[in-house]
Amino acid sequence: MKSTSVRKRALGGKDAHAPKSRVTGVLVLAMKKPLKLYLGDWIEMKKPHPCGGKEWEIMRVGMDFRLKCLTCGRIILIPRTKLEKGFKKLIKSDFTEAPE
Ligand SMILES: [Zn+2]
Repeated sequence: MKSTSVRKRALGGKDAHAPKSRVTGVLVLAMKKPLKLYLGDWIEMKKPHPCGGKEWEIMRVGMDFRLKCLTCGRIILIPRTKLEKGFKKLIKSDFTEAPE
């Protein structure tokens, strides 16, 4: 499926097909469930980056996560286990979770 609509300048390689709807309110995460994170999500980590930033954008998911520091733009690779331990909260997500 290719979109023929005008492509906006994508910042940081964000999905062009992601819906532009705004996330309203606070996203509530079920703490007991495993983390469901998607490309383009913004998360906050407990431990700040050396630059002082705690907010990251997810650029790759899988066994390892690739995160981009939203403060300085650095990209790091972090194993899922480590990310889950250091994960604090989800700041923003373009995806709405379908209840399963
Ligand atoms: Zn940083």
